[in-house]
Amino acid sequence: MNIADAEAIPIRIALKQPFRIAVGTITHTNHVLVRMTDDEGRVGWGEADTFHAVYGYDQRALYQVLTDHLIPAVRGLDPREIVTLHETMDRAIPKNLMAKTAIDIAAYDLAAQAAGQPIHVLCGGKRVDRVPQMGVVGIVSKEEAAEDALLQLEAGYRTIKMKIGHDAVEDAARVKAVREAVGEGVPIRVDGNCGYNRADALRAFRLMEEVGLEWIEQPLPGWDLEGMAELAARLDTPMAVDESMYTPEDALRCITSGAADVVNIKVAKCGGIYRSQKIAAVCEAAGVPCFLGGCIETSVGTAAAVHFYAATSNVISAAEIHGSPFYVDDIAVQPFVAEDGSIAVPNTPGLGVEVDEDKVNAYRIAY
Ligand SMILES: [Mg+2]
Repeated sequence: MNIADAEAIPIRIALKQPFRIAVGTITHTNHVLVRMTDDEGRVGWGEADTFHAVYGYDQRALYQVLTDHLIPAVRGLDPREIVTLHETMDRAIPKNLMAKTAIDIAAYDLAAQAAGQPIHVLCGGKRVDRVPQMGVVGIVSKEEAAEDALLQLEAGYRTIKMKIGHDAVEDAARVKAVREAVGEGVPIRVDGNCGYNRADALRAFRLMEEVGLEWIEQPLPGWDLEGMAELAARLDTPMAVDESMYTPEDALRCITSGAADVVNIKVAKCGGIYRSQKIAAVCEAAGVPCFLGGCIETSVGTAAAVHFYAATSNVISAAEIHGSPFYVDDIAVQPFVAEDGSIAVPNTPGLGVEVDEDKVNAYRIAY
């Protein structure tokens, strides 16, 4: 069995509403799908995602790295030999983990289809039948934030994630408004997306800690592990890393420096399922839990992340991967979405997502 060919397909689907975080706003997908075929006629799908203001490269860059470097390198390889696949990609071009994710997912899809099993069976088997999701509240007014949080609870989500990092005082007021709206029993986590400096962060979290937070994610720039460690030492709330951590080596450094009490693994950010499982193992050995973050995936990326969550020990609490409902449309025949606050783990062979190729063609753009 080998990879006959693969094609990188950039797609552009509008978000229902612009998504604003501390460092920027997006209005549509920046995804690149990979359609991979094997020599026995199967078709596998992968997805690479980005948000240029966070990750430093845009959709065109993903497309070019996939088309010029990664796809030529993996053509002819056996998609079941995932270690060789990643070593070959790393030799073809270093870094570029978000582009490598699309190859990883498409290869797992083909390998699992060939085995007649869902992907999670190839990755350790499922620990859970459903993956709990959180409801997200963006950077909006405190009144809107409280209203949004209540709508998320009504939709079945039991954990709220709030985006902060724009203005410490406004952020603290918004978090308080949401706590008052949702009551004491609902976990609230906050994500600063690198938006604070050290002084603002300490001031903001001294105010916010009073309302009770599940954890505080990446308030400081990704490079400032010393600042994150200092905050972690001075606050009672666990500190989570996201933009500081892409690789197993990053995870180890975040933990040993004291910057991380919990680690955000995103399959899209970390180079796919294989590399994400390595990160979870490093964290587990250090006694630090992980949670599953997202990049506003469509159904392909969401399904890959669900298989990872289901098959990986040490991944805790609500996941952050219900991207598909944020868009006006999806590229799956049946969009892969949460029901009553959680997503069912697929049990059909491969990813468990049937891609609608007419929709892919309708949303594809050219570079
Ligand atoms: Mg984050």
